[in-house]
Amino acid sequence: MIETKRLRYLEILEYVLYAIMHIVYSLWTKDPIIVRNVIIYGTVMVIITWACLWLIKNEFISQVGFSVCVMVGVHVVGTVMGSLAFGICIFMAAGTLLSIYGDRRINWIYLCMVNLTIAFGLVTEYPVIITRVPIEYYIMMILTCDIYLLTESYMVYLYQQRVEEIQVQNEMLSAAQKSKDEFLANMSHEIRTPMNAIVGMSELIMREESSNTKVEQYCHNIQSSGQNLLALINDILDFSKIESGKMNIIYEPYSIAATVQDVVNTSMFRRGYKDISIIVDISPALPRLLNGDSVRIHQILTNIITNAVKFTEKGFVFISVDCVRQDGENILKMSVEDSGIGIRKEDLNHLFESFQRMDTKRNRSIEGTGLGLAICKRLVELMHGTIDIESEYGKGTTVRVSIPQSIVDREPCLSLKNPEDIELLAYIDLDIRGYRERLDYYRSANEHIWKTLSVKNRAVNSFVDLTKAIHEMHVTHVLMGAEEYRENRNFFDKLAEKVKVFVVYDPRYNLHFNENIYGVHMPFCSVSIITAINGETFYNELAEEETSESAFWVPEATVLVVDDNDLNLKVVEGILKLYKARCILVSSGREALDVLVEKHVDIVFMDHMMPELDGVETTKIIRQTGEDSFRNVPIIAMTANVVNDVKQMFMRNGFQDFLPKPLSVKSVGAILKHWLPRKYIVYDEAEANAKGDTKDMAGAVKASVEQTRIAGADDGIDNISKIASDGGAKEAAAYGINAKLAIDNMGGQKDLYKELLEYCLELREKRWNDLDECFQNKDWDEYIIQVHALKGGMRSLGVEELALAAQEQEYAGKDGRIDDVIAGHGPLKEVYDRMHRNIEEYLKTF
Ligand code: ADP
Repeated sequence: MIETKRLRYLEILEYVLYAIMHIVYSLWTKDPIIVRNVIIYGTVMVIITWACLWLIKNEFISQVGFSVCVMVGVHVVGTVMGSLAFGICIFMAAGTLLSIYGDRRINWIYLCMVNLTIAFGLVTEYPVIITRVPIEYYIMMILTCDIYLLTESYMVYLYQQRVEEIQVQNEMLSAAQKSKDEFLANMSHEIRTPMNAIVGMSELIMREESSNTKVEQYCHNIQSSGQNLLALINDILDFSKIESGKMNIIYEPYSIAATVQDVVNTSMFRRGYKDISIIVDISPALPRLLNGDSVRIHQILTNIITNAVKFTEKGFVFISVDCVRQDGENILKMSVEDSGIGIRKEDLNHLFESFQRMDTKRNRSIEGTGLGLAICKRLVELMHGTIDIESEYGKGTTVRVSIPQSIVDREPCLSLKNPEDIELLAYIDLDIRGYRERLDYYRSANEHIWKTLSVKNRAVNSFVDLTKAIHEMHVTHVLMGAEEYRENRNFFDKLAEKVKVFVVYDPRYNLHFNENIYGVHMPFCSVSIITAINGETFYNELAEEETSESAFWVPEATVLVVDDNDLNLKVVEGILKLYKARCILVSSGREALDVLVEKHVDIVFMDHMMPELDGVETTKIIRQTGEDSFRNVPIIAMTANVVNDVKQMFMRNGFQDFLPKPLSVKSVGAILKHWLPRKYIVYDEAEANAKGDTKDMAGAVKASVEQTRIAGADDGIDNISKIASDGGAKEAAAYGINAKLAIDNMGGQKDLYKELLEYCLELREKRWNDLDECFQNKDWDEYIIQVHALKGGMRSLGVEELALAAQEQEYAGKDGRIDDVIAGHGPLKEVYDRMHRNIEEYLKTF
C-alpha cells in the first residue's frame, strides 16, 4: 500500500512537471505576458498545493483540495496558453506512476478527478481547444489515456488482492509459528520429564540386587535407548528454537581455554578404548577472557569433536584453538581434524542440512540425528561466524570454525613462571609408537606451545637421541608419554632426581610412577602440561597423600553432584560409588537448590560451566539463602579451568576447594577425606557395607520422577577404570554375561577372554548352521553332541542364559523327548542370536 508521504512527493512531482512544461512553452513563445502569467499562476498554485498536501491533515480533504487546485491551474493556464493537451498528458503520466505504487482507492479517485478535470476543461475551453487541435484528435487522446488508466487500475486491483491474500496467509503462518513455539516450549518440559524418569528409573532397577540379569539387560536397553532419545529430543528442541528465532546469544566474559578443556575431557571418555590420540593445541597466548556465549561455543565444539571421535576408529583427533586479528576484528579460530572415515565429495554440500546423515550404509551402527552440524551452522551464523568442512573420503575430515569475539582480558591464558630458566626436551619414540602421522601433530602442538612461551626446547624421537640431547643441552624438563616412560622406567626415575620429568598418561590405566615423576592426565594439552610445570595441578600431591594412607569409605555421606553433562555425572557417580558414598545427581543449578532445601547433603560437587545458573551463581545463591546447614555446606568446584588464578576465583566466590577435571579416584578421595566430618570416614569395609544399605531407595524412585536421579551407594561399579581392571563386570552383567566369573576361571587373563569372545562371534554362523543341519536331518545323536558342546563353551564364557537353553535341549534329547527338542529349537535360536548380539555389544565396551 502506498504511504501518504510518497503520495505527496508524487503529486508534487506531477505538479512540477506540469509547471516546467508550461515554463518551457512560455519561454519558447517569448511572450513576456505569458511568462509573467505562468510565473504568477505557478507561484500561487505551488502555495495552494503545498497548503493542501502538507498542512491539511485529513487525507480526503487534502486530496480534494489538491485536485481542485490542479483543475483551476489547468483551466487558467489552458485559457491563457491553449495548452490543455499538455495538462492531459501530464495527468495520464502521473496516473501511471500512481498505479505503479498501487493503491486501488487512490487510483480510482485519481481517475475520476482526471476525467472531471478534462471534462471541465472541455466544457469551459471548447472554443480555445478547437482552434488549436481538431476535437476528434482531442477526444481520441482522452479515450486512449482513459483506457490505459483503467487497465492500469484493474491490474493494481488484482495486485492488491494478491497482496491482501498474502497478508492473510502471513498472519495465519505467524499464528501457526507462534503456536508451534508454544507447543515446543511446553513439550520441552513435558517430554524431558518422563524421559528423565525412564532413564533414571531403569538405572534404579538395574541397581536393585533382587533384579535378575534378564531384567537388568532389558533395563540397560531401555536406558541406552532412553538416553539416545533424550539426545535426539534435545537436538530437535534446539533446532526448533533456532529456526523460530528464539535462540538468543548471551554475551558474557568466559574463558575459552577452560571451555575447550571441558569439552576435550568429555571426549576422552567418548573415545572409549579406540586407538585414537586426542591432541589439543590451545595457544598459550589465547586471551584469558573473551566476550561471547560460552554455552553455545561449548555446544558447537562438543558436536564437532564428538563427530571426529565417533567417525574415527584409529589415528588421531587434532584440536587447535587460537585467536587472531583479522580485518580489525578478533577472530576465535577453532579447528578439529581427524583421521577418520571422511565424507564423500557429493555429500559435502548437504552436511549442514537438517536431518542429513551421510553414507548411512557405512555409518549404520553410529548413533546420531543428522542435526548436529545443522545446529552448529546456525549457531555459528547467529554469532556472525563461519563454519567450513573439508574432507577426503577414507582419509579424514577437518572442520574449521571462525567466530568474531571481543576480548575482555588480553592477558595470555597460560604463562610459565620462569620461562627463561627452562630447557625442555619433548620425547616421543617413533619405534615404540609406530605411527608417524600422529607424531607430526604432537610435534606441531609442542612447537606451538614452547615457541609462544619462548622456552628453549628440542623434540627427540628415539631414546638414543634423548640421551644425546641430555648431554648436549642443559635440560631442566623432560616431557614424554606413558609408553616412553614404561620402556625405560629406571633411567627416567634416576633422571628425575636431577631434572623434572613429566609423563602424559591415561588415568584409566594404572601407571605407577616413582615419586619424583610428575603425572599429567591425557589428552596432550597445553593447559594441563603448563599447569603441571607451574606446579599448579595436584594430581601427584594427592596421589602421594593417598598412597600413604589406607583405603576408606564414606557410606553415610550424601554427596550432591551438579553437572549438566550426563556423562560427567556418570563418571563422578562411578568414582563416588567406590567410596560407597550416597549420590544425588542433578543436572542444573536450579535442581541443586531444590535438593538442598529438601534433603540433607554433606558435600556438593558443583560443575563450573552450566547453562542458566552456572556453578558460581548457584554457589552464590546457596551462600546467601536458606538454613545454616544448607548455607555452610562445603562446595567443591569441578572444573577443567585449571588456568591461572582459577583456584582463587573459586575461593572468592564461596567454594571451599576445587577438583580439576578429569576427576580421578584419588583426587575425589582426598577431597572427601578433607571436607567430610571425621565421623563419616570408615576404614573397615565390612562396617562400610553394613552402613551403606539402600534405605533411601523409595525416596530415590520418587525423586527420579522429579528429574533428580538418586543413587544408593552399595552396588556394582561401572566407571571406566573398573572396566579396565575387571573386564567390565557390571557392563557384562548388563548384557547377561558373567565376565568376572569367566575371567576368574581363566586365571584373570582378560585378553584371553576377549579373544575367546571374538572367536565365539566368528563361529556364530557356522556353529548354528551345523546345529540346524542336524535338526533338519533329524540326526538327534549329533544334535545332542552339538548342544552339549554349545552348553560347555557358553558356560565357560559366562554366557549362562545360552548355556541353560542348550542344556535344556541336551537333556530333552538324552531323555528321548523329541517333541520337546523340536519345540525348543526355535527358542534356542532366539537366545542364541540375542546373546551373540550382546557379546558383540559388550566387546565394544572393552
Ligand atoms: P550426526 O552426527 O548426529 O549424524 P551431524 O549433523 O553432526 O549429525 O553430522 C551429519 C553427518 O555428517 C554424519 O552423520 C556423518 O555422516 C557426517 N560427518 C560429520 N562429521 C564427520 C566426521 N568428522 N567424519 C566423517 N563424517 C562426518
